[in-house]
Amino acid sequence: MSELTGKVQTVLGLLDPDQLGRTMTHEHLTMSFECCYFPPAPGDEGVAGNPFQMQHMHWLRQNPYSCHENLLLQQETSAVRDELLAYRKAGGGAIVENTTTGIERDLPTLRQLAKDTGVHVIAGAGYYVDCTHTEATKKMSVEKLTDIIVSEVLHGADGTDIRCGVIGEIGTGWPITESEKKVLRATAQAQAQLGCPVIIHPGRDPAAPAEVVRILQEAGGDISKTVMSHLDRTIFDTNELLEFAKLGSYLEYDLFGTEMLTYPYNLEVDMPSDSQRVQVLAFLVKEGYEDKIVVAHDIHTKNRLTKYGGHGYSHILKNIVPKMLMRGISQHQVDKILIDNPKHWLTFK
Ligand SMILES: [Zn+2]
Repeated sequence: MSELTGKVQTVLGLLDPDQLGRTMTHEHLTMSFECCYFPPAPGDEGVAGNPFQMQHMHWLRQNPYSCHENLLLQQETSAVRDELLAYRKAGGGAIVENTTTGIERDLPTLRQLAKDTGVHVIAGAGYYVDCTHTEATKKMSVEKLTDIIVSEVLHGADGTDIRCGVIGEIGTGWPITESEKKVLRATAQAQAQLGCPVIIHPGRDPAAPAEVVRILQEAGGDISKTVMSHLDRTIFDTNELLEFAKLGSYLEYDLFGTEMLTYPYNLEVDMPSDSQRVQVLAFLVKEGYEDKIVVAHDIHTKNRLTKYGGHGYSHILKNIVPKMLMRGISQHQVDKILIDNPKHWLTFK
């Protein structure tokens, strides 16, 4: 038992879990995604250098990672503040802001946004994917990494007194690198000490989520308090999905609003549409996993903000929930996905 037991930890302090309300479990309010820049196709350089015009909107939606300026979400705090006010108006209560070390976590900005808007914001501890690990990080032992992660939750991160309420998103690629394995083991050990929620960014291979679960479990992690992100771009075969679901993690569909023909990070992947995402949710509910599903948009580029013609943080509440109801998911089940499941996941043991 600690003072955290039975509570959720937001950037403004401890919260009674019943106060959360509808919760998006994987978003970014301020970050940089420059680590994952993907050069534009020959001939597209001009558009990429001047992206935010109406006639370039389709190109930008199809090629969001091929434009430097689009990757700088940290420049849009004022627009994000407006979006969060709109999110509250649409019935939203909380957001898990799981920007970790490597993609420019900014805790003072998160605290200010929470104060200004009344949206509960839960910040993330730990490290993103290998290419963002510094040489110093790569040299650290599992014990040292564990100490840092525990301290980010108990005392505050990045030299502030602002405490993280979740570990992750912990970044892993495919195959999982040695440095990423160390961070996963540290995550599991920190979770064992703290009884806290964990969220994982798996590599883009159907085998990646289960391999992460195996490493976490071996190191003492609690899979029942772990969210596996990005399943919409990772496991497509329904039998494989059911096999993975049996392992007991939360199943996150978190790229709502993202529709692109060519996914530059893995050309094998056909990025699903929102309609297809809802079909998978209905399938998982039918298979008995209504207590394990969580959802989000994972906004991480400018073009997805309403300011730039994007869907914004309220897209699920405004557009996806009605579609879920239309496809056989009941209101009670929707409430589990948006309220109860995030609440149970985020509450410290
Ligand atoms: Zn993310």
